[in-house]
Order: sequence, then structure tokens, then C-alpha cells
Amino acid sequence: MSGRWARRMDGVRPSAIRDLLRLGADPEVISFGGGYPDASLFPVEELASVYRGLLVPEHADALQYTTSNGLPGLRRLVAERLTRDGSPRTADDVLIIQGGQQGLDLAAKLMVDPGDVVVTEDPTFLGALIAFAPTEPAYAVVRTDKHGLDTDDLQRVLEANPGAKMLYTVPDFQNPTGVTLSYERRHRLLELADEHDLLVVEDTPYRSLRYEGSPLPTLLSLDTSGRVLHLGSFSKILAPGLRLGWATARPDVLERLALLKLAADTQNSTLNMAATAAYLEAFDVDAHVARMVPVYRHKRDLMLATMDETFPEVVTRTRPDGGLFVWLGFPEGFDATDFLARELLPQEKVAYVPGATFFPVTQRPNHARLSYSGVPDDRLVDGLTRMAKLLHRAL
Ligand code: PMP
Repeated sequence: MSGRWARRMDGVRPSAIRDLLRLGADPEVISFGGGYPDASLFPVEELASVYRGLLVPEHADALQYTTSNGLPGLRRLVAERLTRDGSPRTADDVLIIQGGQQGLDLAAKLMVDPGDVVVTEDPTFLGALIAFAPTEPAYAVVRTDKHGLDTDDLQRVLEANPGAKMLYTVPDFQNPTGVTLSYERRHRLLELADEHDLLVVEDTPYRSLRYEGSPLPTLLSLDTSGRVLHLGSFSKILAPGLRLGWATARPDVLERLALLKLAADTQNSTLNMAATAAYLEAFDVDAHVARMVPVYRHKRDLMLATMDETFPEVVTRTRPDGGLFVWLGFPEGFDATDFLARELLPQEKVAYVPGATFFPVTQRPNHARLSYSGVPDDRLVDGLTRMAKLLHRAL
């Protein structure tokens, strides 16, 4: 059927890094590529107990269809979480989705016609570019630094793109850079979004994984004009295999997203929603997160300290206050995809994600994303030391 595919498939392509990451799945390879949460931290026993409690004849409704917005009990618990995080919400303000990722798909379907301008950080989350691709957006990108998206550059970009409809941002511990948007810039971003009548998609999967400092207010909580679509996820709080996230926005936005969700997949798994609601009722999820934080903090510290000790000084790196990623900058002219494919992987069996694919418009080759989650300490130090040795030779 070649030549018969819909035109939108032109923008839907396998990523060039997929093959490299497949190599990274070899158990001999020390991979900083994944960015998966550490599976040894999943609350397996607790989840087993709530699933067992539901899989009995009296709870057969946990295996039944439910409303497409999601189980009311879970929506209420999410609303309480949002309320504690500075944004008073009720169950009716919440749409349960298949992870934050589905929120990105639904947002693009809601806002983007082919050629419409979507504004993103540069670099941005690759999964968002993958989710947006079928709606065929054009991108306008905004410079980022250690304080997140640069709002002066955002102003310039919006003035140059008066038709822009949607701004996508990861304000807390961004993927791929790990940086967090400063307080002042959060306010300025919303001012500019008001001036230019944008929908702001605030994506917050790492928000609870803060290792130092105090939380900054969400864009949702600072928004006075109802233009923030806020996405959250249980993937890093509980487990990504549950495929559970949430969206909240003002009612006319949420209603339309719910219609699109119904069209896409009817509803999330009733059983996973019921089990997660039961887990949240029976156990203290914040205490669970508080047990994970020191583990990830230790990994981050070990990664940064090992880099400080062993890496050439010309390699820059971010120092994230939370989340799972460190972002490297190599000198101009260095190609991180080439270095991975020709030297690091074949010679030292070490992998990262080359940075190029995180740039929506102009792919800069001299960056890489490394994740510290899920790599045992000794392998983490060994892998980085081996990488450093090759870098000294290459730079
Ligand atoms: N947004 C960002 C920034 C992410 O890094 C991820 C996953 N790693 C997601 C969204 C999607 O995660 P999930 O669908 O599992 O919630």
C-alpha cells in the first residue's frame, strides 16, 4: 500500500536513535539512556495487596467499563493532590489519561491544524514532538538556560509568530536538560501567554522528585486567566506501567479533551484506576516519594561528582535540583551521535541519548542526555570513568 498512507504519516517517523538505544538494552552495556524510574523502588507489595482486594466477586465493577473521564474516586484523590499543590480543584476538574503522554496527544488534537505554530523550549521532550507530529505543527523554539525557558527570547519568538496557539513547557526538572523554570520567569511566561492568547501546556511528571530547595508554584496555580492545561503523572510517583496521569484545565478545555479521550480509547483501565485509588487511600504516597528522593539524590550526586572528577573541563553539564536527567554540552564541532555510535558504544559499551533529536528545528549535534536512575553505583562510576577516558582522547 505504499503511497496510500495519510499525509500526516510524513511527519511520523521512527527516531534515528531507536537503533542505538536498542543496542543500549544489551545487559553488558552501561546505559545512561533510558530515563526509566528505578523499578526496585516500585511499591510492589502494596500494589499487590490492593489488586488482590479488588479481584474478588464483590468488586467485579473494577473490571467493568466506567466513565471516560475516569473513576470518580481517583479523580477526587487527584483533585486533593492538586489542591495541596496550590490549585484548589474538585473531581469534576480532573480528566484521567494514559500517562502524561496522552495529554500531549490530546492537546495537539485540540489546538493544532497542519502548519500551526507550537512554541517549545529548545531543546524539548522528544516524546512531545512524537505526540504532536501527527497534527503536523510548525515549531518556534525558545532558548533555555539554567533558569529554564528564557522569557526575553519567548517575547521575541511570540512577536515573530503572531499566530502561535500553544506553548509546551516542562517547568520542573525538564526532560532533557534537568533545569527548572525560575519564579520570575513563571510569572513572565503567563503574562506573555495572556498577551498572545496562548494555551500553555504545563507538563509536570518530575515535579515530586525534588532533591533540594523548595517547590516553585505551578503555572496552573499562578494562572489567572484559565489558559493553563496542566498535566501530571503517576509514572514517576508510583509506576509507569499503570499508565495513569491526569489533566486539569478550565471546564471548556477539559470537556473538549474528554471528547477526544473518548474517541481515542474510551477510558483508562478501570482496574488500574481502582487499584491506584485504593493504594492512595490505604498508603501514604508522599511518604513513598520521600523514600525515593534520597535514592535518586544520591545517584545524581554520584553522577555529578564523578563527572567533576573525570570529565574534561570543556564538557558543560547541568546540575538539576530534581528529576532524572543531566544534560551535557560538548564543544562546537563535536558530534555526540557519532561519538556514541563509533567510539563509546563499540569500545566501552557505554550509552547515552544523543541530544540532537531533542531540538525541534535545528538539531544541535554537540549535546547528550544522561539519566542516573536505575544504574547501580559501581556501574555508574565505571561507565562515566570509561566515557571520560574516551572524551579526553577525543577533545
Ligand atoms: N512528559 C515528560 C517531560 C516526560 O519525560 C515523560 C516520560 N518520561 C512524559 C511526559 C510521559 O510520561 P507518562 O506518559 O508515563 O506519564
